Amino acid sequence: MNGRISEIFDSVQGEGIYFGEKQLFVRFFGCNLSCRFCDTKLDRFTEYEPRELLEEIRLYKDKQDSFESISFTGGEPLLQAGFLQEVLKLTSGHGYKNYLETNGTLPGELSEVIDYLHTVAMDLKLPSSSGMPQLWPMHRRFLKTASRKDVFIKAVICGTTSEDDIRQAAELILEADRSAILVLQPNSFEKISALTERLGQFKDYCVGRGVITCVIPQLHKKIGLR
Ligand code: SF4
Repeated sequence: MNGRISEIFDSVQGEGIYFGEKQLFVRFFGCNLSCRFCDTKLDRFTEYEPRELLEEIRLYKDKQDSFESISFTGGEPLLQAGFLQEVLKLTSGHGYKNYLETNGTLPGELSEVIDYLHTVAMDLKLPSSSGMPQLWPMHRRFLKTASRKDVFIKAVICGTTSEDDIRQAAELILEADRSAILVLQPNSFEKISALTERLGQFKDYCVGRGVITCVIPQLHKKIGLR
């Protein structure tokens, strides 16, 4: 079984609660959503068999300044769940720490790979931010499965983000996994100064409901990393 991979590169995690961690990024081709704020337009890929991808990963491990974990990112890696499962079996068998970045909408596919993951970085696509339809039932099922492992949640905050979406997000987290950390991430295409007040209000609301919440911008863009 072949997988479609758009790029492989080593860098530093710039989002969420593991920002600063050295990672090898394996970017999967293709996505099932089209978010308004998407900054990852993929138009090419290379096909790999699972063992070929492992060999490529091992080349990076030999570098002097090697990485702490492998970030399987996209696009949406779970669109290729069968291939991803084979790769994760190989990487975990070789002692690598597997980190999945996902839009959190494919709970059945997550069940196929959850045993081989260390960390799940899950997006909550707020309709008023992403421009996508409501995805709450998929997100709820997804978080329940992800809660078996280390999981945190990212929600992009824009000038259009509604209080009602924040309320629904908080309820979903409290129901599915109240120990999961919620990261409010300002939209990188808007000025942070214009979002500061909303970020503060939304954070206060979530904390008041009992959700562990923090505000973290996309740091890799601020310091000029990929
Ligand atoms: S889920 Fe991620 S990769 Fe897919 S369209 Fe949205 S922002 Fe882009």
